[in-house]
Amino acid sequence: MKRILAADIGGTTCKLGVFTPDLELLDKWEIPTDTTDEGSRILEDIHQSFKSKGDDHELNLAGVIGIGLGVPGPVDFNNGILNGAINLNWMEQKPIVSEFESISGIRTIVDNDANVAALGEQFKGAGSGHKDVVMVTLGTGVGGGVVSNSMLIHGHGGAAGEIGHLYVDYNRRFQCNCGKKGCLETVASATGMKNLAVHYYESGMTDTLLKNGIEAGTLSAKSIVEAGEKDDALALKVIDEVAHYIAVALSSLSAVTNPKYFILGGGVSRAGRMLTDRIEAYYRPITFPPAYENTEIVMAELGNDAGIYGAARLVKQFLA
Ligand SMILES: [Zn+2]
Repeated sequence: MKRILAADIGGTTCKLGVFTPDLELLDKWEIPTDTTDEGSRILEDIHQSFKSKGDDHELNLAGVIGIGLGVPGPVDFNNGILNGAINLNWMEQKPIVSEFESISGIRTIVDNDANVAALGEQFKGAGSGHKDVVMVTLGTGVGGGVVSNSMLIHGHGGAAGEIGHLYVDYNRRFQCNCGKKGCLETVASATGMKNLAVHYYESGMTDTLLKNGIEAGTLSAKSIVEAGEKDDALALKVIDEVAHYIAVALSSLSAVTNPKYFILGGGVSRAGRMLTDRIEAYYRPITFPPAYENTEIVMAELGNDAGIYGAARLVKQFLA
């Protein structure tokens, strides 16, 4: 039987999946990511796990069309090269396609994990049935992926769709991991929410449920959302500002790619309607009208499975 394999490689676990050629998910499971010894066993572990599953499921690796890999780092898509992944202890450039092909003998394709998640949501999740979709993942950082006419946009150097680094905070208050200031990630991720809460607390908004967390340095995005649900003024100011910055980013993205759906995922998106209602309210008044007509802001649907669906989809698009 022909099969498509997918692996979404994270810093803690690798999510693995087996699909039919029509991209029906047959089986999925997780293995721990062994990041010791500079992550030297990660690819071999994935191959071995598929091989041993093969014995259970009569999965004949010789009948595999290809494997798609999602990796937590910047990828040179056309050349199959990963430019380092700190979470995996891969500190240097890694020709991941040729390495996995020589380990497994299976044709391999690789992309960034945020990109494969976007592609997964586009074809199987919240964007299902539409060719133009932008995914924004609001987690510890802000990740993203732009799908245009059913294809991920990579750009000249592979940096397209790095929504987290759109410049939105013109006051340039907080330092971003990329080295710049003012990126969306510094004001709209879990880290960004904490940045804003501490900033306004230090500016005098000290009458807040978040006081203890801020003073003790234990503040979390979750606690900010919970305080917002109790109408805490500081928490609501933070959530409102997060929504405003996201809306500014979506407005720019609309004028460039005019997606049918903006799909929000990641931990911060669990703030739910408290966040999305505010994003909606800010987004439409500042956006070029033809670029938002019929555009909807929706929640991701596939959760942790988005990556394997998208990685399998890449195999179907490029290797089948
Ligand atoms: Zn940045």
